[in-house]
Amino acid sequence: METDPADAAEFRMMVELEDRNLMLSAFHSPLAELLAWDASTGAFIAANETAQSTLGFSLRQLIKMNVADLMPSVSTARLRRFFEHVKRRPTAELTFRFNYCDSLGQPRVNRVLLQYTAEPRPTFMAHCSSITHFVEARAAANKAENLLITALESLPDGFVLYDAEDKLVICNERYREIYKQSASAMRKGATFQQILEYGLERQQYADGIGREAAWLAERLIEHGAAHTTVEQQLTNGQWLRIVERQTVDGGRVGLRIDITELKNQQAQLEIAARTDQMTGLMNRRGLNRRLQAMTNALVTGERIAILHVDLDKFKAINDAQGHDAGDFVLRHCATVLDDATETPESVARVGGDEFIVLLKTTQDDDVAAKLALRLIHDLGLPVSFRDRVCNIGASIGIAFFTPHGPDTIDGTLTGADIALNEAKQAGRSVMRIFETTMRNDAVRLIQMAQQIRLGIIANEFEPHYQPQINSLTGEIIGFEALIRWHHPEKGLVPAFDFLVAAERAGLMDQLDHVVMDRACHAAAQIASWGIARPCVSINMSMSQLQDTNIAQRILGYTKTHGIHPRNLRIELLESTLLDERSSVIIENVHKMIAEGFAVELDDFGTGHAAIATLRKFAVHRIKIDRSLVQDIHKDRELQVITGAIINLAGQLDVKVLAEGVETPDEQITLHNLGCYCAQGYLHARPMPLSELRAWIAVQHAKVSDGAYPQKPKWG
Ligand code: C2E
Ligand code: CA
Ligand code: CA
Repeated sequence: METDPADAAEFRMMVELEDRNLMLSAFHSPLAELLAWDASTGAFIAANETAQSTLGFSLRQLIKMNVADLMPSVSTARLRRFFEHVKRRPTAELTFRFNYCDSLGQPRVNRVLLQYTAEPRPTFMAHCSSITHFVEARAAANKAENLLITALESLPDGFVLYDAEDKLVICNERYREIYKQSASAMRKGATFQQILEYGLERQQYADGIGREAAWLAERLIEHGAAHTTVEQQLTNGQWLRIVERQTVDGGRVGLRIDITELKNQQAQLEIAARTDQMTGLMNRRGLNRRLQAMTNALVTGERIAILHVDLDKFKAINDAQGHDAGDFVLRHCATVLDDATETPESVARVGGDEFIVLLKTTQDDDVAAKLALRLIHDLGLPVSFRDRVCNIGASIGIAFFTPHGPDTIDGTLTGADIALNEAKQAGRSVMRIFETTMRNDAVRLIQMAQQIRLGIIANEFEPHYQPQINSLTGEIIGFEALIRWHHPEKGLVPAFDFLVAAERAGLMDQLDHVVMDRACHAAAQIASWGIARPCVSINMSMSQLQDTNIAQRILGYTKTHGIHPRNLRIELLESTLLDERSSVIIENVHKMIAEGFAVELDDFGTGHAAIATLRKFAVHRIKIDRSLVQDIHKDRELQVITGAIINLAGQLDVKVLAEGVETPDEQITLHNLGCYCAQGYLHARPMPLSELRAWIAVQHAKVSDGAYPQKPKWG
């Protein structure tokens, strides 16, 4: 009997081929049920004990039964067709799964091996074994696997599992999504290396391009170590954190976590950390990083010019016009500098009003110097802020870094700073290129500054006093306090030899305070010797003048020593009053005058003070600089200039003293020009307080002896 196709399909549905080994083990199991029946009648021939007990019929009962009796729900015709189908199979046997409910109504699954034998008589033999527990276990396993897959698929991260041979076992969709280019290589059984190579060929890894072999080797080592957490960037910009661990069976389980956002935030923070908030330029940190990058990229014949730019008169703007104006000016200057440079990341702000400009140049061009001059010009142009105009300027120091040169990057930065210092000392709006001698000078100054610090602690500083006299009458009109250093090894050091170092190291304040205190003490001493109205002049340095409390401080010293402000004269450099650097200075001068101190202008004739400023500040006296006095008797031009100054001062009711008078000829010429106050070696050298009393006595004796052309009014 032929099986029609519809029936064949039905049987296929009913029958499920199972693993042959599984079947065989079931067959030999003592639990297997064995049944045999006559192939033509369906009558049972044999059944083992297990079959009898499972079916609930004894052998005797079974022998009276037909196989169809066990399956009342299946039609006889259908059953016959099924048996025919088995008979006609080439092996005349069929293994199938048989689902049924037992007498308690529990679902059961049996594996049945149905064999047909024609000899010695046509018989069907059924070996049945229960595979209910297998089926249940499989179902449970399937469920667990499905759960695991669901879990893996719902992971936000890429997941991958490799076996002990580094072959891919499973990965989730996210993993394929992350590694799009290599996704098609992610077949079960493909090795980790194969998948990497596939991705490398398609340029999937940002840092793998161009160094594929090295990249692969590194990655395999990391993967092999399997206890590492590494970061990886893909060419699409995505950042991943790779976490890999070894599994108990020696495989590798890995996660790929997308950290792109974190990385972007980090990058933003890093940018912020190397950016100056006010101007948006690089800060010191950004500068160092940039310099490193530039250095690494230098080729033979190239060098880096470091321009250290310092704004002139910036403090004055901050002080006088407020911080808004100051901030505005800084931003303006930042723009000027940035505009002047072609390469991005070439300008940094490294201090309040200090900037660094970087420039890549060749060995011996003058591009840097030209740029510096241009910057000085551009930064010197007036800046409008609200309804005001701010005037600033810039000084620039330049140093060059050459890869195999004598200096490190740090050394070059210091060099530019030293050159800047030189530029500032040379006056404003000046550019200086670093030279080695500058460093030697700077080092000397630094060493000296250190010695000065120690000297201050050890009380080695003390002023000497140089008398000032009326050169017609010999009358003593005052003393100038001039600082001296009793150096333990060098002996007495004059002011010129250490003041520059002190000034650069910011030590003038401390020295001036020593002098102020000692000078007030000296004035009190001189008064105690019976000298009427003793006057001591002190030199006021720029930094003191910028101290808003200076007038009060000086007043404090006069009180401590019990002297009157009129016993003290304050010497300011002529250039001070020209200096619009700070309104504080101007205010201080007015305050000192208001407190009763006489203010005089030192080194007059060397600066360019308009005579008019004398009136504006109620200056008591001007001191004509030694350069206008030296050899004046031989120099007609000097006589004209000095004469004019003396005349003008007389008209403004400002007194005049000539400094550095060394010879009688100079003194006579000054007399002829109408200047009768003098200070100089001709009359007396600066001397310690201890010698002053004796000198005063000698001077009084000279006056009494008629050594001077005129008698003093008191004489
Ligand atoms: P200065 O204020 O112009 O002082 C006059 C300088 O000329 C003094 O030099 C003095 O010793 C020197 N001198 C006086 N008469 C003659 C002369 O006839 N011929 C020559 N060749 N020189 C003469 P010194 O003491 O070395 O001081 C130099 C400068 O140092 C001073 O110039 C002043 O600017 C500064 N200085 C001195 N002492 C102090 C101080 O206590 N504080 C401050 N801030 N500066 C001081
Ligand atoms: Ca002086
Ligand atoms: Ca002077």
